[in-house]
Parts: sequence; C-alpha cells; structure tokens
Amino acid sequence: MEMVTVEQAEAIITLQYKQFGTEPVFYEAALGRVLAEDLFADRDLPPFNRSTVDGIALAFSAYANGLRAFTIKAIQAAGETPQAIDTGNECIEIMTGAALDDSVDTVIRYEDIDIAGNTATIRDIDVKKGQNVHLRGKDKQRGETVANASRIITPALLGLAASIGKTELLVTKPPRIAIITTGDEMVPADETPTPYQLRRSNGAMINAVLKTYHLQADQFHLEDNIGRMRNELARCLQEYDVLLLSGGVSMGRFDHVPQVLDELGVKKLFHKVQQRPGKPFWFGVHKDQQLVFAFPGNPVSVFLCLHRYFIPWLEASLGLKPSPPLYAMLQNDIYFPHPLQYFAQVKLHVDDSAQWQATIANTNGSGDFSHLIHTDAFIELPLEKNAFKQGEIYRVWRYGMV
Ligand code: AMP
Ligand code: MG
Repeated sequence: MEMVTVEQAEAIITLQYKQFGTEPVFYEAALGRVLAEDLFADRDLPPFNRSTVDGIALAFSAYANGLRAFTIKAIQAAGETPQAIDTGNECIEIMTGAALDDSVDTVIRYEDIDIAGNTATIRDIDVKKGQNVHLRGKDKQRGETVANASRIITPALLGLAASIGKTELLVTKPPRIAIITTGDEMVPADETPTPYQLRRSNGAMINAVLKTYHLQADQFHLEDNIGRMRNELARCLQEYDVLLLSGGVSMGRFDHVPQVLDELGVKKLFHKVQQRPGKPFWFGVHKDQQLVFAFPGNPVSVFLCLHRYFIPWLEASLGLKPSPPLYAMLQNDIYFPHPLQYFAQVKLHVDDSAQWQATIANTNGSGDFSHLIHTDAFIELPLEKNAFKQGEIYRVWRYGMV
C-alpha cells in the first residue's frame, strides 16, 4: 500500500474503535475513569425547603400586614425536625441548612434583625416573599438524571455521586495495553550507555501519557532480532488488546517490526503517513482484533503519533465523546518545502482578546526532543501549502498534563 495521508490514517484508525466492557468500582477509586451509567437523584435536591442563612423564619403574610416584631417560638438547628409557628406574630430562629416547616416561608438573616429577650425585630429593610429559602426539588427532582454516561469522573462528579449515595459506579474498562520498545542501541535509563548508545526514554514517556488517563500498562523492551521479537510479540498479542510499539518500523536492516507483525497475522492497515514527524508509522489489526500502533523510534515522532492518533482512539474506545478541536493563530511565518503534512512544536498562550496564539519553537528537526518540555502542542499545518503566515489559524494538538 502506498503512503496514506493524515486524514486517511485517521479514518482507518477511526474504523477500529472498540469497547472493552464495563466494571463497577468504588466511587472514591473512580476519579478519571469514564462513567458508563446515568446517575439519578435518589430524592429531591434539595430534599426539603432549606434555609440558606442563619436568622429567623416567618410567614411573609404577617410581614406584608405590617408586623415587624416577632416572638421567637423555638430555635432550630440543621438536621432537626422542622418547627411550626402557631400564629403569624411568631418566628423560628433557624440555622443555615435547616428545613422550613410549611407554616413559614421567608427567612431574614441575623444581620437584618435585632433580638431583645424573646423578640426579634426586623430593621428597615426590604423583605421579599420566599427570600433565603432554597426550595425543595429546585435543583433536581427525585428520579431526574444528575449525570450522563460517557463523562469523565471529575472531583465534582465524585462529590455528586456521594451526595446521592452512589458509592459504586459503573465505569468503562480500558484496553489492556503493552508498551513495547525496540532497539539494541537503547539501554535502560539507570544504566550508563557506551559512547554510541542511548538511554531508553520512549517507554517511560508513553507510560506517563497513559497515566494522565488513569491507565496502567506493562512495558517491555525487545532486541532487534527476528526470532526473539516474534516470540515476544506473539505472547503480547495473546495477553493484550493494544500494542504500542516504538522503533523498528523504518527502512533499516534492523527494522524488523513490520515483517514480524505480518508473520504473526497482524494485518497492515497502513505503513507510512505523509507527515513529519512520524512518517514510518505502521498500524494494523490482528485477526483476533488486537490493534498494533507501531511508531517510529524517535521520541518526537512517538509523541506526535501518540497524541494525534492513539489518544483520540483511546478516548473514543473508553466511551468519551470526542473533545472539540482546538485552534490557534500562528505568531510566526513558517516555510516547509516538503510534500508532507507538518506538525510543528508550538508554545501556546491566550492573548488579551481570548484568542489562542501559537509560537513556533526553533527545533532541530524531529530528532530534537529537548524542546518538547518547552512547548505545549503540535500545530497541524496543511499538506497543500508550503508557506504559512503569521495570523493564520490551524488546528493544534495539546500535550502535557490533561
Ligand atoms: P528506529 O525507529 O528504531 O530506527 O529508532 C530511531 C531512533 O529513535 C533511535 O536511533 C533512537 O535515537 C530513538 N529511539 C528508539 N527507541 C527509543 C527509546 N526507547 N527511547 C528513546 N529513543 C528511542
Ligand atoms: Mg531501531
């Protein structure tokens, strides 16, 4: 197959969205997971007419008739059974969060009254019927949906779940993911490389991105040896739903990944995307449905392919609705002479008219990963053009902590 465009690669990956089922989890362990059920109010919210201030509760009709001094019939704390008044010249001293009896409908805060002995006198203020009362069911009615499925479980959603007594939440199951790096020249990060070796960083970096999605993955490193690679990948295909590979997919003599995947029955859906970085990206599906995203080894290529292709696949497969695209305005002119879709590293900021602005980092090509920490996103510059001007607006793919 010929090299595909970025759009074609994206469309091919979109056809491979999968669901991995659901599982119940304790709500306090559910932060960052994707909700797989709708949540309903177990009772009206609030469940009773509730005072929103500390003060006195009275019948507005008595106030409307000109009464300003009220006998305090009782003091009522939050959580107590509502106290009734017997006549309009009585009131209940009431605390924030306490329930109003049907005989009272309006609350005046302490700041607006004077209390002498057993009598509360309202100062010269404007009182409105029903003020400082949060009516029963005003936020949600019993049985009403309070949260829909397909949402990320945020701290606010977790609190809401607790408030309705939902201590077990159904969430989507993530795929089982193996991160597999390759390359005989790559030594573990805690070993000293020879002058011509490098330390491995892709595995840790991919794993860190997955962690921001509250996913856990296993990491392996393979030698550039066809036989051993075949054995290891065969085992991974049995144990995982998704293989994220780095390295070994280019044209070099030791780039064995495409051949080995082919031998193992992983059908190539594309190899090579018309883009920079990440051109040698290989993507395929096994007959038992496991997916293989095989990225070129260069860390910037890995980062681009991960955020541009894998993360959207992951979000959809976790049951999330697609996040709206983000666009930014170029702050510099760029000239890119190659017939490839160029993803440039940019620093983003929002200007004083709320427009996202993208400033290009001066990187030394796609092998330069030292700039990733100083930038926030890749800006996707269309294939059809070579010259991009300051002020033009293009799509950006953010990275960093989500
Ligand atoms: P490859 O795609 O296998 O030809 O690898 C290209 C280059 O990517 C290597 O020479 C390294 O510079 C880099 N690379 C490959 N694997 C890793 C890794 N695990 N961590 C960091 N850099 C890597
Ligand atoms: Mg290699």
